[in-house]
Amino acid sequence: MNIEEQLSAYGDVECNEPLAKHTTFRIGGSCAYFVYPKNEICLIRIITICQSNRLPYRIFGKGSNLLCSDDRYEGVILCLDRYMNEIYFEHDGCCVAQAGCSIILLAHEAMKRSFTGLEFASGIPGTLGGALYMNAGAYRCAIADVLKEVYVYKDHACVWMDIEELDYGYRHSRFQSERDWIILAGRLQLEKGDQSEIMALMDSRRQRRMDTQPLDKPSAGSMFRNPDNASAWELIDQIGYRGKIIGGAAVSAKHPNFIVNENQASAEDVMQLITEIQNQIKERFGIELHTEVERFNWKI
Ligand SMILES: Cc1cc2nc3c(=O)[nH]c(=O)nc-3n(C[C@H](O)[C@H](O)[C@H](O)COP(=O)(O)OP(=O)(O)OC[C@H]3O[C@@H](n4cnc5c(N)ncnc54)[C@H](O)[C@@H]3O)c2cc1C
Repeated sequence: MNIEEQLSAYGDVECNEPLAKHTTFRIGGSCAYFVYPKNEICLIRIITICQSNRLPYRIFGKGSNLLCSDDRYEGVILCLDRYMNEIYFEHDGCCVAQAGCSIILLAHEAMKRSFTGLEFASGIPGTLGGALYMNAGAYRCAIADVLKEVYVYKDHACVWMDIEELDYGYRHSRFQSERDWIILAGRLQLEKGDQSEIMALMDSRRQRRMDTQPLDKPSAGSMFRNPDNASAWELIDQIGYRGKIIGGAAVSAKHPNFIVNENQASAEDVMQLITEIQNQIKERFGIELHTEVERFNWKI
């Protein structure tokens, strides 16, 4: 049996799939196999198939925090958002959700039940898995604030891990250094609140995003982490890079911490902008600016 046949026993498989179709940046070369596993058992079986065929693999959520290179990836992308996306609520605000669920949907489902704590997430276009990996957040809130446990596949077993074991911080989690671990689900604890207040907060957050972010153009959200005691967008503004264009990529004129795919940008165009910004900010202010967006399939 060839690899496609083996994989398709456990999920939907696309061969030679452009990653540009699966990232919010709309950038990226093709991958050999893009697979939507049907469930956890299938996911684990697919990993075994990858290992026995010496194929590298990587988990994708909604690709909303990724800058994929223009090169081909000779491996398997496992995308959890098609099947592994169930959400369960208990009456006291305990919520267990699979890693592939959309956190925008999760925030709405919580609001419908008058649970507060996820309003910040209502405009973050990723999955719960991606949010737990990144500790996604906004408006001084983050997913770790409402998190209790994460269900993880590691060392050939599925285990619940307590939040204390996961080293959460600003856009940081232990998952970023434990690259073999796969997030399968999370358990959150939300509080009972007033539904109209929750809805009003979500609406005002959404409006603020629409007013301040270039949501009409492909991007991966904020490109750089905010350094201590400074904001990345202000530093970028001060070096005169608001609106700066390289190839098809541009620093957004609306929000300088967004790099947008203005016109069929290549990953190289984006990387050149990133490097120039980092170099100039280092030279001018002595500050190392680190990317919040992750690079995938780069040789260096
Ligand atoms: C318009 C826009 C606005 C945004 N606003 C915000 C914001 O306000 N705050 C914020 O924090 N982010 C924001 N983001 C960035 C992004 O949406 C978040 O980081 C999100 O959490 C990424 O989720 P994802 O499912 O898309 O992950 P992906 O981009 O698919 O993956 C990101 C990383 O997580 C890993 N990963 C994903 N799922 C799993 C899993 N199940 N197990 C192990 N590893 C996994 C991937 O391998 C990859 O390394 C924004 C992005 C856009 C495009």
